[in-house]
Amino acid sequence: MQKKVTVVGGGNVGAACAQYLAEANFCDVVMIDVVEGMPQGKALDLTQAGPVRGYDTRVTGANDYAAAKGSDLIVITAGLARKPGMSREDLLNSNIQIMDSVMVGINSSCPNTMLLVVSNPLDVMTYRAWQKSGLKPNMVFGQAGVLDSVRLRAFVAMELGCAVTDAQAMVLGGHGDSMVPLPRYTTVAGIPITELLPKERIDAIAQRTRDGGAEIVKLLKTGSAYYAPAAATVQMADAVLNDRKRVIACSAHLSGQYGLSDVFTGVPVTLGKGGVEKIHELKLERDELEALQKSASGYKDIIRGLPK
Ligand code: NAD
Repeated sequence: MQKKVTVVGGGNVGAACAQYLAEANFCDVVMIDVVEGMPQGKALDLTQAGPVRGYDTRVTGANDYAAAKGSDLIVITAGLARKPGMSREDLLNSNIQIMDSVMVGINSSCPNTMLLVVSNPLDVMTYRAWQKSGLKPNMVFGQAGVLDSVRLRAFVAMELGCAVTDAQAMVLGGHGDSMVPLPRYTTVAGIPITELLPKERIDAIAQRTRDGGAEIVKLLKTGSAYYAPAAATVQMADAVLNDRKRVIACSAHLSGQYGLSDVFTGVPVTLGKGGVEKIHELKLERDELEALQKSASGYKDIIRGLPK
């Protein structure tokens, strides 16, 4: 039977997710948004692009969650995006209310469906979705590490003038200023960048990665990035729906790994049909581990302050 993915939120990220999913041709796509007519209109537009782009994916739009019934995966992109000068954490108060209302809808129509969270602040929103869902922790995960890693990959390739596909990278921690790019695990065709670039260039690239979202927000002025975030999200959806066993960084629930528990943060996982099938514990150096723990504990503090 054809797989089905529901994308909640039909704004910039949600619509780009729907487009990439449609083009990937492996699932039906439903887009849900509170704005009347908008998801239906975008779904019709995407359907009409199919003959030119070479897909026959069924794409539909809706304003209520009955349309999500039978989904194999729900991608949550509903929520406000940043404007220049804002941090992702500045979105907390508005987006927590949006997430709570989204979870009421999801619980009513798809109580046992895996959740892939994109809304910011990402690690807190992923925790909230999990908390409100009652699902096992492996079934709820957040997209951040793939995006932060592809940003680092792109900057390494730009610096070295090499193919972006030959650059691999690993970025751990929360999806915010405290994220932890790992140069030791960032390579070009297997060669660590620590052997290819001087420390000051690596530090500059790592900082540009941390600021990668803000750089785009500053340029766009009216919203935040969506092409790369959506591409990263669809790579995760593909990993789950097609059981790819991808080893990638994503926001996952920790229960003792890296000395952390009861928090979602970016760590390397194996992602397949069981969701987060394994969390990989890297042998981090002391400063790397401390940075990861510091990043996660900042989000733990926010989680403790959330309304029930
Ligand atoms: P956007 O403003 O373009 O779209 C958000 C959509 O959510 C709007 O269409 C809005 O109508 C909808 N919405 C609001 N409340 C809703 C509700 N209760 N139910 C359903 N839909 C609702 O914003 P965007 O650029 O698409 O970004 C969406 C979210 O994704 C933001 O929180 C943004 O910060 C986040 N984001 C995350 C990443 C990441 O890597 N995790 C990257 C980019 C953006």
